Amino acid sequence: MAAQATKANMPVVLLKDGAEQSKGRDAQKNNIAAAKIIAEIVHTSLGPRGMDKMLVDSLGDVTITNDGATILKEIDVQHPAAKMLVEISKTTDNEVGDGTTSAVVLAGALLEHAESLITQEVHPTIIVDGYRKAAKKAKQFLDNMAEKVPANDKSTLLKIAKTSMQTKLVRKDSDKLAEMVVKAILSVAEKTNEKYAVDIDDIKVEKKPGSSINESSIIRGIVLDKEIVHSGMPKKVTDGKIALVNTALEINKTETDAKINISNPQQMKSFLDEENKMLKTMVDKVIGSGATVVLCQKGIDDMAQHYLSKAGILAVRRVKESDMTKLAKATGARIVSNLDDLFEKDLGSAELIQEKKVEEDNWVFVEGCKHPKSVTLLLRAGSQRVVDEVERSIHDSLMVVRDVMEYPSIVAGGGSPETFAATKIRNWAKSLEGREQLAVEKFADALESIPLALAENAGMDPIDTLTNLRSKQIKGEKWIGIDVMKAKVGNMQTSDIIEPLAVKQQIISAASEAACMILRIDDVIATAKSAGPPPGAEGGMPPGMGGMPPGMGGMGGMPDMGGMM
Ligand code: ADP
Ligand code: MG
Repeated sequence: MAAQATKANMPVVLLKDGAEQSKGRDAQKNNIAAAKIIAEIVHTSLGPRGMDKMLVDSLGDVTITNDGATILKEIDVQHPAAKMLVEISKTTDNEVGDGTTSAVVLAGALLEHAESLITQEVHPTIIVDGYRKAAKKAKQFLDNMAEKVPANDKSTLLKIAKTSMQTKLVRKDSDKLAEMVVKAILSVAEKTNEKYAVDIDDIKVEKKPGSSINESSIIRGIVLDKEIVHSGMPKKVTDGKIALVNTALEINKTETDAKINISNPQQMKSFLDEENKMLKTMVDKVIGSGATVVLCQKGIDDMAQHYLSKAGILAVRRVKESDMTKLAKATGARIVSNLDDLFEKDLGSAELIQEKKVEEDNWVFVEGCKHPKSVTLLLRAGSQRVVDEVERSIHDSLMVVRDVMEYPSIVAGGGSPETFAATKIRNWAKSLEGREQLAVEKFADALESIPLALAENAGMDPIDTLTNLRSKQIKGEKWIGIDVMKAKVGNMQTSDIIEPLAVKQQIISAASEAACMILRIDDVIATAKSAGPPPGAEGGMPPGMGGMPPGMGGMGGMPDMGGMM
């Protein structure tokens, strides 16, 4: 339908041939349906009893995961509205690390409930207004409900870390892993004016399959997945003086084709001698600085390796740039890009630098650094797929512990805060007039999709569980939630199921923003791609639609399309 009729009934061609447009109710229905499908996919993986997903990509690579953000990242969605949900799971992952599944489930529920209002002729604008107000209120209610904790209270942080692992395959090893995660965060946290800041990038995560998860460890320092470059070098250096070099210990090959005519063996020899001399000079500069360890971001020539090993220096080449930065922080060394600038003051230090066998590989461990600002978590598991999932779970866990350190307020888990906020919002809705009240009530209903899903996935009766939960909370027990592992409603605080307030608030913001954005759309126009791939699956929108920018101008930033109806 590329032509629109003007008042004078003159067809005006607005869109190119082949472009698709769906308007009004159709567009809304279609968007909501797509978003609901996405929410349904991740719905079953919510909570400790949630299921895992096996994702197979076009090359046949398999990922097994329970992490909402990962599931959605791996499935290649085409529909623009569905893409928005993928987007919010990504944002949530970046902002707070955990709660990605919940955000998508909540957004799906908000849209589902909005749909029933739309069929009752409530205008989407009113729903959007109601949802926004309700989201703001919900966050306030959570704020009031939350409990302030000391930011560096280790036992709280451990519980936070463990709760986020409860829903993952690492659950049975969560005691040990939580201990590692909290140790890592505490050692990189920096305190300024009573507030903590944590840079997750200070924590290096290395993984290696071939052993049990329980064999994972934390190393006070940096682990490099590289071996010592020359067999004649020491395998172990104590009280190492470390040079970090980001220039090659090699002779630059010329870019242009240079020709060297060598006509007799003598010339050949002097040519090689000259090269060796240059390499020797380089190595002498390193030796001159007093370094006993050289970690080089670029290559090290065979001859240079030989000279270094003769001097008893341990060297590693082709260290990743990100590792160089971490090494600089940990050892206090300055990264030097010109060997002429390498002096003793540029060297860093570590108690022990040694090569250790990790399965079939040799890795270099730089331990006992002067400033233990950088730590490495060395994750182990039986297979590559499992160790990948362990890494994802550790990421979530590191992030939630960081969240609490930076923003030390906690709430209970197990659907407790969502149910609490829902009840409060229903009460507050009574004070509202007009149809907005209906939207606010629907928002409350949608919040309860979280406890409902938790109960459902645990094989409990969702409705009974929810009503039981509500009635207990009304009696003033705000820490009551669904203890999924015991399959009963109980006090979450005594079961140590606690979560950062920041995560719960992010879930509400992200989900309501996405839902509102989708509800405000009443026109979907897909431009025809001139030489694009064939239209997407199931005769839906052509893939060009997917090109819609993720933010779409952000909340409220959409031009008012009401006039086009
Ligand atoms: P998300 O990606 O949203 O974090 P999860 O699958 O990790 O999804 O599930 C998180 C939900 O599971 C939270 O609502 C959390 O409170 C809940 N949860 C975690 N552990 C338990 C438990 N032992 N009992 C009840 N609920 C739990
Ligand atoms: Mg989680």
